[in-house]
Order: sequence, then C-alpha cells, then structure tokens
Amino acid sequence: MRIQADRQRCEGHGLCEEVAPEVFGLDEDAVVVVLTEELDPGLELKAEAGVRVCPVAALKAQR
Ligand code: SF4
Repeated sequence: MRIQADRQRCEGHGLCEEVAPEVFGLDEDAVVVVLTEELDPGLELKAEAGVRVCPVAALKAQR
C-alpha cells in the first residue's frame, strides 16, 4: 500500500497523526508528511483510518 498526501490541501489539523503516528507526521509548518513510503502490512488498517479521518480529504491510500 502506498499513501499519498496532498500537501496543498492539508490544513494541519493533525488528526491523521493522532490516529496513525507511525505513518503521518506534521512538519514545522504544520503540513502533513508521510513518514514511510512503503507501508508495513501491519500498519495498513491504521493508515487507512488516518486517511479517512482527514476532514479535507488530503490523503489517499492505494493498494
Ligand atoms: S488530517 Fe488532513 S488536514 Fe489534518 S494534518 Fe492530516 S492531512 Fe492535514
């Protein structure tokens, strides 16, 4: 699974990071960064939950 983040769209709410801190972080400008390019299979459900929780639909998960 690959995670894509639209950093232009991100508003820095940090909800994705709260749900899946192994996958998402915020940079010094409070814009999302994806911490891991190739996701460990054990983190996929958590990553998908982080994608879903974003209020501005800035995240995508592709299998
Ligand atoms: S939940 Fe969405 S808006 Fe909030 S930090 Fe994550 S990507 Fe950005």
